[in-house]
Amino acid sequence: MGDLLADLADAVDKSGILTGNDIGPRYTDTRGHGPAGAPACVMRPTSTAQVSAILKLCHDAGRPVVPQGGMTGLVGGGTPNDGDVVLSLERMNAIEEIDPVGRTMIAEAGVVLETAHGVAEESGFVLPIDLGARGSATLGGLISTNAGGNRVIRYGMTRQSVLGLEAVLADGTVLTSMNRMLKNNAGYDLKQLFIGSEGTLGLVTRCVLRLQPKPLTTSTAFVGINDFESVPAFLALLDNKLGGGLGAFEVMWSEYYNFVRDRCPTLKPPLSPEYAYYVVTDALGSDPDGDKDRFDAILEMAHTQGLIQDGVVAQSDKERDELWAIREGAGEGFRTIAPIFTYDVSMPITAMDEFASRSMADIEKEFPNAITLILGHLGDGNLHAVVAVGDGSDTAHRKVNDILYGIIRDLGGSVSAEHGIGIEKRDYLDWSRTDAEVSVMRMLKQTLDPKGILNPGKVI
Ligand SMILES: Cc1cc2nc3c(=O)[nH]c(=O)nc-3n(C[C@H](O)[C@H](O)[C@H](O)COP(=O)(O)OP(=O)(O)OC[C@H]3O[C@@H](n4cnc5c(N)ncnc54)[C@H](O)[C@@H]3O)c2cc1C
Repeated sequence: MGDLLADLADAVDKSGILTGNDIGPRYTDTRGHGPAGAPACVMRPTSTAQVSAILKLCHDAGRPVVPQGGMTGLVGGGTPNDGDVVLSLERMNAIEEIDPVGRTMIAEAGVVLETAHGVAEESGFVLPIDLGARGSATLGGLISTNAGGNRVIRYGMTRQSVLGLEAVLADGTVLTSMNRMLKNNAGYDLKQLFIGSEGTLGLVTRCVLRLQPKPLTTSTAFVGINDFESVPAFLALLDNKLGGGLGAFEVMWSEYYNFVRDRCPTLKPPLSPEYAYYVVTDALGSDPDGDKDRFDAILEMAHTQGLIQDGVVAQSDKERDELWAIREGAGEGFRTIAPIFTYDVSMPITAMDEFASRSMADIEKEFPNAITLILGHLGDGNLHAVVAVGDGSDTAHRKVNDILYGIIRDLGGSVSAEHGIGIEKRDYLDWSRTDAEVSVMRMLKQTLDPKGILNPGKVI
């Protein structure tokens, strides 16, 4: 390792390599998705050329490389093992260009999402990728996990916002695919290989992102619904009547809503606990004079048609934040039932109620005092489950995994909707992918990274 460390140090400036006690907790804090080993060193390059030089050296030496962005991933994709070389993109954080005519942003992979949001807004646009970890997650991490979030129903996953990217292959080859056009069918779309592959096929160093016009209005409602059939019917009504303006549609099963009422004293649940489902929804628009009335009229129509039984509409940004906090801010409640296991799964919308009821019943059969809470991005076919069984052991975790992922397999869903596979879900990849799919994944990995140095042990 001595020679490799010396060569790596030569490839960067003085601050570009950390070893021993200089390796801070940032690089091994895996949010419980570990345990993390002690990396041989942390490389902090400032250019694609440096990333290429580092990878070439590691490739020649057969040394594993673990890419890291903001370390907010939820499946242990950035977790290093003993002796790995961590390659952090944190110093590649320049926004190179905004093109207001082509509506694109060109940026380096280490730019933090919130910074990119700010620059897009200053230019009169939005970068529509958004999620709770926006203050730390990086563009490279978001691309490598094909991150989702609350605006997917309107703008799609991260993949839909990536027009082009630059990646460095395992052997140091730089693959520049910085396409700026919406249309480019000249051969294979190679950038797709690196979107969602969690750093196992290449290192993303730069990207071209698509910007969107800034919505001028946001209308938010929180409603109670009696029966599951009305939930997708309400979604369809909003979608039809809003003319492409539906910005978010999040559903919460009553167990979750009542948990928030009982365990989150700082939140303000707006409706009585009698409904079976609760939905918070945003409409984005461009007509400050008419959007609110139009939104109110659609809600009135939904009420008249019996799709929703009760509801409130936010009258200010503060009220909007309070309504959204019911969906996003239950951390104080979760802490009272820790340890918890969290899940991010997808399935056809028609199978969601069966997923929820079977999950609650099957987990309770195994763990009679279990708490199972279901909520999520219904319009995207994506639900989250939070499960507490009073036992945080690996054995209990495995049992709950087997129950939930078994139901997902029966329903033809996916064990990962938006967080990826990492190390956390690796054993379950073939529960929602066919043998042929997994075999082609292995062929791609073997072709692009024959020595297996890129993020070994992750995904596949
Ligand atoms: C509070 C909170 C809320 C969240 N909400 C959501 C949500 O709504 N939707 C969602 O999808 N996710 C969500 N996440 C998960 C997480 O934020 C995303 O996975 C995010 O994309 C990770 O970005 P990062 O920069 O932190 O990447 P990291 O965690 O550092 O890395 C994630 C993966 O990408 C690889 N990687 C990182 N950078 C690169 C690169 N430049 N090139 C190649 N590989 C790379 C890593 O090896 C790892 O496998 C949430 C996380 C938190 C903590």
